[in-house]
Amino acid sequence: MQGDGISRRAVLTTTAGCALAGIGIATVSGQDDDESNEDDAGITRDSFPIMDGTNRETTVHVTTADADGPTVVVVGGIHGNEVAGYAAAEEVADWAIDAGTLVTIPRADTVAVDRGTRTDDEGVDLNRQFHEGDDPETELARAIWAVISEYDPDVVVDLHESRGIYADDPVDGVGQAIFHSSNDEAVNAAAETADYVTRNYVDDPTRAFQTGPFSRPDNDPQGLLVHKAARDLGSDAFLVETLSVDVDLETRVGWHLAITEQLVADGLFPEDGTAPDEPEEAEPDEPEEPDEDETDEDASDDADADEPESPTATIKTVPEGADERALEPGQTIELDASCSSAPDGDIVDYEWDVGKTDEFDETGETITVTVGANARDSVVLRVVDDDGRTDTDSITLSTE
Ligand SMILES: [Zn+2]
Repeated sequence: MQGDGISRRAVLTTTAGCALAGIGIATVSGQDDDESNEDDAGITRDSFPIMDGTNRETTVHVTTADADGPTVVVVGGIHGNEVAGYAAAEEVADWAIDAGTLVTIPRADTVAVDRGTRTDDEGVDLNRQFHEGDDPETELARAIWAVISEYDPDVVVDLHESRGIYADDPVDGVGQAIFHSSNDEAVNAAAETADYVTRNYVDDPTRAFQTGPFSRPDNDPQGLLVHKAARDLGSDAFLVETLSVDVDLETRVGWHLAITEQLVADGLFPEDGTAPDEPEEAEPDEPEEPDEDETDEDASDDADADEPESPTATIKTVPEGADERALEPGQTIELDASCSSAPDGDIVDYEWDVGKTDEFDETGETITVTVGANARDSVVLRVVDDDGRTDTDSITLSTE
């Protein structure tokens, strides 16, 4: 049961995130190189707005090479707090390609990007609006989908960030991963890209890029853009997640760019010879760091005396028992984590994943949630103690 220190810290974290978002925007935009660029020989650049005249107006960039090749769509800013994703997509929009067509929507949810939040000003999570087989429900999602289905891309790459590392359990976060559609080409491209980028761009082995399949049609989360692209259009689709905490923005943007480039190299840069599946990797003699046995993580300050205990996450609802009965749509429930405990330390972070988004993007000892109109919302609480040990608890709020 922590006092002011905790919520204070949560507030500071949030503020830092918003400030960073501002810097990201300023750094990345602002260099509009037009057709005068000599790299642009053999390509045509075009751009147009969607949702024009509204506060959701955003720009679609289309670069077409003279040489035939596949059509690739790259999207960023579907979640406005995932800065490296949209910062990288802004750079991708300026790429000079050798073949094919590159369509970029760097700031898909520009309201969320401007706010520095995951969702827009109405709480809409854009990456839950793309249900396969149906028209998207929001105007913005429909406008984005109209562009994507018009171009009918061979490949779709959607750039995101996460506050945790994917360890085969999305509850811990989904950072440093490439999620892919289930066709062989996509599976292979993801694996080769993860391997290539890890070997060339990642120093810390705990941050190696991993791969995983998307959630299946009948599992949460549903309505991801990549789902619809893969299932309605047959695109090779990839959702890229970098770790957004403890890594500077430039590094994260660099990872996104390297991954995107590798995923599409075969198609858009056929002459470069940097295609991910070229066997340039016959050097398995990586200096494996034959443990100088003092290096076993760097968290070893005082933690190794006698089997430190992990914290215990506990969610209580106000009103009590809200997870055990049917709720009214629109009803507000307070979730209280103050009964969580940390026997061998202090809890320093309370992180929440509301609605099974696979991302812990709310913080605070207590939060309030509004029960959605549609059926069931899972909420996961993760507590982190001052040695980085974690535990999770989850509940489901249901209207049925
Ligand atoms: Zn995201």
